[in-house]
Amino acid sequence: MICEICGKRKATRTISIEGAKVEVCNHCSGSIETEIKKEQKPKTYTLYRPVNNIKNILEEYMKSNSISLKDLSNRTKISEIDIKAIIDGRLIDKEKIRRLEKITGKTLIEKITIVDTPDQHKADDKIKLEEFIDGERS
Ligand SMILES: [Zn+2]
Repeated sequence: MICEICGKRKATRTISIEGAKVEVCNHCSGSIETEIKKEQKPKTYTLYRPVNNIKNILEEYMKSNSISLKDLSNRTKISEIDIKAIIDGRLIDKEKIRRLEKITGKTLIEKITIVDTPDQHKADDKIKLEEFIDGERS
């Protein structure tokens, strides 16, 4: 395994950079750790994710307007398969969910701001971040 930072020396250890495992050589691991320690300023992530009750909102909307999934699909130009997947939480597509927001007049996407300091990184943070639609780092 070659060091992933310099690409020259042999990697001797695995370190964690922002939750990602990186194979590095002795030389690079030293300089990276120093840099991470210097950078103590918390990072802010702005993330978007579907609201918890998106399923209820969409089912309720169809019920109260007496429309079928097919009707909703026609009105939003989103395929029935995709709507089903959004309802079940299997599809996270911000642009499509926005269209559903428009037609239902309900908030279906919530914005979350996470303040993250390097010290607080845990392994499961990474998994959680992937659940979000997209992230904008600022
Ligand atoms: Zn190296």
